[in-house]
Amino acid sequence: MGTTFAAQIDPRVASFIEKPRKMLINGKWVDAVSGKTFPTYDPSTGEVLAQVAEGDREDINLAVKAARQAFEGPWRKMTPSDRGRLIWKLGDLIDAHVEEFAYLDSLDNGKPLTVARAADVPLAAELFRYMAGWATKLEGNTIPLSVPYTPKAKYLSYTLREPVGVVGQIIPWNFPLLMAAWKLGPALTTGCTVILKPAEQTPLSALRLGELIVEAGFPEGVVNIVPGYGETAGAALAAHPDVDKIAFTGSTEVGRLIVQAATGNLKRVSLELGGKSPNVVFKDADMDVAIGGAASAIFFNHGQCCCAGSRLYIEKEVFDKVVDGVAANAKKIRVGAGLDPKTQMGPLVSQEQLNRVCGYLESGLSEGAKAIAGGQKKGDKGYFVEPTVLVDTTDNMKVVQEEIFGPVVVAMPFTDPEEIALRANDNVYGLAAGIWTRDISKAHRMAENLQAGTVWINCYNIFDAALPFGGYKQSGWGREMGHEVLNNYTQTKAVCARI
Ligand code: ADP
Repeated sequence: MGTTFAAQIDPRVASFIEKPRKMLINGKWVDAVSGKTFPTYDPSTGEVLAQVAEGDREDINLAVKAARQAFEGPWRKMTPSDRGRLIWKLGDLIDAHVEEFAYLDSLDNGKPLTVARAADVPLAAELFRYMAGWATKLEGNTIPLSVPYTPKAKYLSYTLREPVGVVGQIIPWNFPLLMAAWKLGPALTTGCTVILKPAEQTPLSALRLGELIVEAGFPEGVVNIVPGYGETAGAALAAHPDVDKIAFTGSTEVGRLIVQAATGNLKRVSLELGGKSPNVVFKDADMDVAIGGAASAIFFNHGQCCCAGSRLYIEKEVFDKVVDGVAANAKKIRVGAGLDPKTQMGPLVSQEQLNRVCGYLESGLSEGAKAIAGGQKKGDKGYFVEPTVLVDTTDNMKVVQEEIFGPVVVAMPFTDPEEIALRANDNVYGLAAGIWTRDISKAHRMAENLQAGTVWINCYNIFDAALPFGGYKQSGWGREMGHEVLNNYTQTKAVCARI
């Protein structure tokens, strides 16, 4: 344990990370077939945090076999009510272990313990409870027919809503437990079975969740958890001929690889990908609310949110006021290790992300952008970056067009409120957008004009298990959460009987 705050670690967490963690296949905790393990790091120090079994193609094959058997066996036979009860129980078990999960995600990802405790873990528990209720409500329709070439015949026609089957789920590292919940909840409630591959940077909380899945009493093989690298375990899962559907959250670049890998058996694909979300402040906004909101839209989770409000458009008359306010906010943020109770922003997740974000900062500054807060790496240990506000950008700069995935916002003035939607939409992504104004007509007109899967008005980063989330354009296919997500995991069978 390299962290300075090791002494504060919950003892259950300390013992969890002490031993190499195994993978969950067919209800058993097993080593990788290859016997290999890989390290996961503490991003506040760069030191190894724990060793984890390294899944690869052969482990994926075993997990798919187990998921197929469970899908055709006990899981299929269980009543929807019993299925819902298990999922609800899993939500309650998460609630009973909030501290452990908060520590694991804080250690593995770097996020402040206080944030994991207040947001990630309760949202994950709530997601399972919301989804539990849907198990008993997946209904079809009865459909009256008027077939022209059999005018005398009578039919009884109806639809059945059936699970798609064995599902591979590949998740990122920015909200390790919550992303596992977003994926597992709808798959389980619809009656699918799962092979979950957590991100190699943050596998620990998903593995702890696996223990609770066993404790809750899910039949063997319903959920299999195979940690490993993307190019090996992830690629094998995406290409597997006996996987019926792949659900992916991560970069748009890897999303494209997933789509290609899925062509072999034409498995269904849902994708939640990158973003470069516009956040628009009008001059009639409540300034205090808008300034605090614009700062948290980008700095929450260190900017490592696919929906981060990273393009801040501010009406010219209030540009200086808002930008100075956001910069003052950025300078006040206490950056430190996730376990330090004073920390408001932790490190980035990895050396790779640190290099990526610093590369963008260099690119922006060399093209003429100016940092009025932050602008560089922080300290020489761990993967810290200063919360940064860039001004004097032009719309074609990489820092304005591309997803940085770090605590870096570009602030830009606008003069014509009628044209700002066009500018906000001028990007390949369409995940989220923010609007700050007191004029409700303007707000709702603007919401209609924005090409984004989520539009927040006078708020930002508000998530709820009932509210669908996902992308327009290159931000993805399908929606997470709400009843919309159930479409990703079900298929419709039309039954037509002559009576
Ligand atoms: P990021 O760039 O934010 O790290 P990625 O898109 O690379 O996000 O990773 C998200 C998830 O996708 C991780 O679980 C990772 O292991 C997985 N992954 C990466 N490359 C591939 C691939 N070629 N095939 C399948 N999964 C992959």
